[in-house]
Amino acid sequence: MKSGIPSLNLPAHRDQTAPALEDTPPEGLQAVLDNLDALVYVSDFSTHDLLYMNAYGRQIWGNIANRKCWQVLQDSDGPCSFCTNHLLINDQGEPNKPHVWEFQNQLDQRWYQCRDQAIRWTDGRLVRLEIATDITERKQMELELRAAHEKARAAALEDELTGLHNRRAFFEFGAQLLNQAVRHHTPLTLIMMDLDHFKAINDTHGHDAGDEVLRQVSALLQARIRDCDIVARMGGEEFAVLLPETGLEMARTLAERLLGLLQELTVHHGGQSISLSASFGISLLGSRDRRLEDLMCRADEAMYQSKARGRSRVTLAT
Ligand code: GH3
Ligand code: MG
Ligand code: MG
Repeated sequence: MKSGIPSLNLPAHRDQTAPALEDTPPEGLQAVLDNLDALVYVSDFSTHDLLYMNAYGRQIWGNIANRKCWQVLQDSDGPCSFCTNHLLINDQGEPNKPHVWEFQNQLDQRWYQCRDQAIRWTDGRLVRLEIATDITERKQMELELRAAHEKARAAALEDELTGLHNRRAFFEFGAQLLNQAVRHHTPLTLIMMDLDHFKAINDTHGHDAGDEVLRQVSALLQARIRDCDIVARMGGEEFAVLLPETGLEMARTLAERLLGLLQELTVHHGGQSISLSASFGISLLGSRDRRLEDLMCRADEAMYQSKARGRSRVTLAT
């Protein structure tokens, strides 16, 4: 070891100005490099001229004679925007530790783990040595696993019957709206809605008819809210609508409109026509509220008042 700077044990080059294509390793080393199950290449640090590429690379990306790394290995018109050369040297322009990263090649679309390193070439100039191993299979498995995780996460937050957010999603996403409202001192209201005499619908028309009612009610709610609102099925025949930047009066107007639409809705199922109504309770985020549960508790109370007062109505929490 001379200076701690890595270098390839290659034959000395006589003419330092000519392209260094003859700078190939001696036979034994050549055989080793050409039988590696990885790409190995060397390119000039400043001109990007390819000085060496092993058989693995030549088989995929072709001949390197008089060509630059970005012409052979990528589909670029000039040095790649993602070139790592600047990471391979320190402030004094001397080789750093190797840089290891993962990358999808633009030409063959396969994923590689690249180990990039600046080293001194036989003539003393700085060159880039890259060893790239194909990790496509592992990457694909990772991507599939991530997609499966995301799907499972989405499923865990979705109500299976109606496609609305479920109770868990309501608390997860609702907390963000609550924090925003507290931080910016903006009004936030919650509408709780419970279908009236839903058990009677099940008893009279059957459970499937009840399911169809829940689906149609959900679609109606979803169609009537803004993108920034959250609507969720909290369980059974109970729904919550969380409205950012909305005061009590605006929320009451919306709830009354929803009640009207529900009363007009006739659900047809198995040759039968089913009509509905619902009871609503509305609460406004108070200055001392810090949790959605506080808001929900008061909206629930108001909703039970609507039930007690004869159902099919809207009550504001005091
Ligand atoms: P109220 O006006 O007081 O709210 O009366 P209700 O009948 O709507 O309320 P209750 O709590 O007595 O009954 C709710 C019914 O909702 C009972 C339950 O079987 C039914 N239910 C809950 N989840 C589902 C579901 O996913 N599908 C169907 N079809 N029915 C459901
Ligand atoms: Mg009910
Ligand atoms: Mg209920």
